[in-house]
Amino acid sequence: MDAEIIAVGSELLTPDRADTNSLLLTAKLNSLGIEVRFKTIVGDDLPRLEEALRTALGRSQLILLTGGLGPTEDDVTRNAVSDVLGRPLREDPEIRRRIEERFRGLGREMPPNNLRQSMIPEGAEWFPNPQGTAPGIWLESGAIVIILLPGPPHELEAVFDSACAPRLERLAPPQRIQTRVLKIVGLPESEVDRRIAPLYLPYGNPVTTILSRPGVIEVHLRARTTSKEEGEALLAELGDRIELALGDYVFSTRGESLEEVVGMYVVMKGQTLAVAESCTGGLLSERITGIPGSSNFFLGGVVCYSNELKTRLAGVPSQLIQEHGAVSKQVAQALAEGVRRRSAATIGIGITGIAGPGGGTPEKPVGLVFIALADAQGTQIRQFRFPGDRERVRYWASQMALEMIRRRVRE
Ligand code: ATP
Ligand code: MG
Repeated sequence: MDAEIIAVGSELLTPDRADTNSLLLTAKLNSLGIEVRFKTIVGDDLPRLEEALRTALGRSQLILLTGGLGPTEDDVTRNAVSDVLGRPLREDPEIRRRIEERFRGLGREMPPNNLRQSMIPEGAEWFPNPQGTAPGIWLESGAIVIILLPGPPHELEAVFDSACAPRLERLAPPQRIQTRVLKIVGLPESEVDRRIAPLYLPYGNPVTTILSRPGVIEVHLRARTTSKEEGEALLAELGDRIELALGDYVFSTRGESLEEVVGMYVVMKGQTLAVAESCTGGLLSERITGIPGSSNFFLGGVVCYSNELKTRLAGVPSQLIQEHGAVSKQVAQALAEGVRRRSAATIGIGITGIAGPGGGTPEKPVGLVFIALADAQGTQIRQFRFPGDRERVRYWASQMALEMIRRRVRE
């Protein structure tokens, strides 16, 4: 069974609000083995919504509409469905009673507008909305199922989970969609694809997609099978081959972030961590402390932006800064060693660089970043030239600092 989602709401066509309902619904439908084939976003616009609905009726067996079920004039979803299917709206006394009761419970007068929400197309069934007033509506037209869900994400989820999922589970053939995600750091997308394309191309199932995000490449495998065991076996078969081909560039196969993986290794090895950050301005500390349990290994960090604070907080000799400049191998090393010494952590990290957009020179261009890792074995320093704007350079720097820790600690 294939589904189509129509998200209704003019705000979803502006840059201010993203359609997240369809993502939520897609995840839930996939877990029922239902694949989403089309998604449409339409404004609160009756003729255009009717057009979208007619198109959907011509190609999909399951159509889910979200939003536009509110009490106001601009909420057009139920009218569109009623018009296109030729099913007049009728008041449902039970919905009306519930809406009135809800307002009484809140001690508020019910605006007459709200009665619009008790109107449903002829022949439709409805589901109570535990979180709001607009009920969910279920309609069948021939072999096509049409579901109307309220727009507010928590209401949509409540109605879908309590009423729609169990019904769809009975309707949908016993298909399962399972996924495995491999995350890769340190290889460009083209190289990842060069290594793994020969492995995944022969497979029509699982389907493989490669997604690139700043600092991470993700390989997504989606298997569609009739049983959980079969899906797991397929994912393991292809997933393990891909993992082997990418070697230790793969840092996660169960969805963990790089900081989580690093945290796990650092704790496992009984190490502790402290950082001295200049151009990342605390981003590395922020990412590490975002992991629950980071207090078990992260002692803390300093943001030392000025030369003076590099000296005062991380013990970088001012002469070193004068000689080599704040953005230099030597200063990165001194930051890492200084913060390690002062905090008594087993690992110290120092980061210094030019995030841009200003401040670059021919010798020290924007994107130049030095990262040093000091531990009992000595100090390792790497020089990077990151692409992109200020935000990306800073993110990449935090990412490669984490990657240096991962490689050092897992040895
Ligand atoms: P209500 O009874 O609250 O009016 P409704 O079904 O009419 O319900 P809308 O008015 O369309 O829903 O949307 C209500 C809220 O939910 C708005 O804040 C809207 O931005 C949000 N919303 C609607 N659709 C989506 C969507 N597809 N993704 C994320 N948020 C959405
Ligand atoms: Mg709306």
